Amino acid sequence: MDLDFWWLLVIPVAFALGWVASRYDLKALLSESANLPRSYFRGLNFLLNEQPDKAIDAFIEVAKLDPETVELHFALGNLFRRRGETDRAIRVHQNLLSRPDLPVNERDHALYELGQDFLKAGLLDRAEETFRSLKSGDHALGAQRALLTIYGIEKDWNRSIDTARQLETMGAEPLGLEIAQFHCELAQEALQQKKPDEARRQLDLALKANPHNVRATILGGDVDAAAGAPQAALGQWRRVEEQNASYLPLVAEKVMKAYEALGRVEEGAQLLTQWVDQYPLNDLLDVAYKYVSELHGPEAAHTLARTQMQKSPNLAGMTRLLEAQQATAEEPRRSELQLMRTLLQQRTKNLPRYTCQNCGFRARLFYWQCPGCSGWETYAPRRVEPIPASS
Ligand SMILES: [Zn+2]
Repeated sequence: MDLDFWWLLVIPVAFALGWVASRYDLKALLSESANLPRSYFRGLNFLLNEQPDKAIDAFIEVAKLDPETVELHFALGNLFRRRGETDRAIRVHQNLLSRPDLPVNERDHALYELGQDFLKAGLLDRAEETFRSLKSGDHALGAQRALLTIYGIEKDWNRSIDTARQLETMGAEPLGLEIAQFHCELAQEALQQKKPDEARRQLDLALKANPHNVRATILGGDVDAAAGAPQAALGQWRRVEEQNASYLPLVAEKVMKAYEALGRVEEGAQLLTQWVDQYPLNDLLDVAYKYVSELHGPEAAHTLARTQMQKSPNLAGMTRLLEAQQATAEEPRRSELQLMRTLLQQRTKNLPRYTCQNCGFRARLFYWQCPGCSGWETYAPRRVEPIPASS
């Protein structure tokens, strides 16, 4: 019984102790917050009331009184930039940089953030200037990466190459794939400006940076074709098969044009049929079908379409098969097939798309650089239908 009585005493004592402890915590909190300048609370209040400009003024006031508020500035600046309020982010970071007592690493950090603000605001010149000032320190690598982005946006490929090389020496991942593409961009420009020698020089450099670069091989053929040498062009384009056969659809039409120019279109159609047989790629079949139909008539084209459809069934292949059947059919079946084909074509016209394997951006045209995420060689060179027709 005695034991029970003692337990009854313990409970109020515990409550009393808890009350004293909470009072102590509250006191400590109050004394701490008393140390914070009033401007801090004013700023917080403005921020919560959606008055960001007044909040910035209040926080700048805090920064003048209390030098320990660097983190607050970074948090605030990033918040504004994420919300797209770049002018406010710029003000916050510039204010931070105006402090004479700022340590070097914090100064670099503020410069880096300011550069990102300018980049987001589209002020590329100012962004470039800011990032270029970060030559060493913890943010030098990040600044160099940002410069690579800027030169890519500006399509300044020579500077892109220099920057990528610089990044590699600074310990970044290998950038051969990107460097090769920058050389290809320069080659393409040279080709448009009718400077074949410069184009060839850039293509050699591209293949040196990345021997697997198929674009350089394709462009090499384009340079030869533009110079009136279809035989040499063919030699280049046929090398795509050894390099990476999945890119053959990108050269199929070019190959046929070269054979036509040489007066050997029959040989070209034979090669294309052989390719289609080996690589069941829909876009390749499109070209082969057209030429086989022209050269050998509807029966041969029908056989080609049917064989491929059995190998790899899809909606585009089905449309082509109906077209082939229609070409050899009698009335009234011919009109029926025409109707089916038109319906199917209407529904599937825009279906096949190139898809970025990095960000999923889908496009009707093939891109070497994704318009969605700016990644290089992120598109597989074949169009796919989003609905699995074979299931
Ligand atoms: Zn992408």
